[in-house]
Amino acid sequence: MISLSQVTVRYGDVTAVSDVSLTVPPGFVLAVSGPSGAGKSSLLWAIAGAVPVAKGQVEVDGLVITDRPAAAAHGVVLIPQGNGLARVLTARENLSIPLLAERKPNDEVERTIDQALTGVALEESGDHLVEELSGGEQQRVAVARGIAQQGRVILADESTSELDGTNRERVLDLLHAEARRGAAVIIATHDPAVAATAHGHATMAEGHLNWLRRI
Ligand code: ADP
Ligand code: ADP
Repeated sequence: MISLSQVTVRYGDVTAVSDVSLTVPPGFVLAVSGPSGAGKSSLLWAIAGAVPVAKGQVEVDGLVITDRPAAAAHGVVLIPQGNGLARVLTARENLSIPLLAERKPNDEVERTIDQALTGVALEESGDHLVEELSGGEQQRVAVARGIAQQGRVILADESTSELDGTNRERVLDLLHAEARRGAAVIIATHDPAVAATAHGHATMAEGHLNWLRRI
């Protein structure tokens, strides 16, 4: 369960997120849409502890994590826009880093990576360097890395923007499966078709959140 109350993010004089309150219970997917610059990424970064929260509070399962750098330690997983992968490492290596940081045993890490790569239909590409993969393949690796972490909260920032129809469906199915497993999922997206698949749908404009369909 992720809960925000009146969260505000500022960059100097720019208010990127203004007084946003929302709750996504386990098992639910919320889509956040809106034009470029509306504050969607900043909202996800605030939840992930990647930008300071000027005002308000972020809670995961009742625990306040506002501004704690270790959001990941509380099960918050961000799949960043632009994928955030290390280009000179292989897909497998990229997936292994967060898992090894959690001190999972090696054989379990390998199994989890196999499953996650199979989930995005890249089981043959694990040993390719990220820089050898296409933009869409890199995006699927980033999704696999996010899914492999089995987060309590999954934040997907435009994670289908470079995908064709089949792979978009595949990634959406994976994010919904994460919700069925018990995660709370937030998807930032430009794509109305993606937003339509979510349980709840809100739009952002100039940092303000407006509900179109409540969870
Ligand atoms: P409105 O403000 O549209 O009349 P409410 O009074 O029900 O609707 O909403 C009060 C606040 O609760 C709003 O700030 C809204 O953002 C927040 N809110 C509404 N639905 C949800 C939800 N599913 N999860 C979290 N917060 C919500
Ligand atoms: P979206 O994801 O909806 O495109 P962003 O969260 O990226 O929106 O941006 C919201 C606002 O914050 C925009 O006005 C953007 O220019 C500004 N912004 C985003 N990141 C930074 C930053 N690191 N420093 C200063 N301003 C930023």
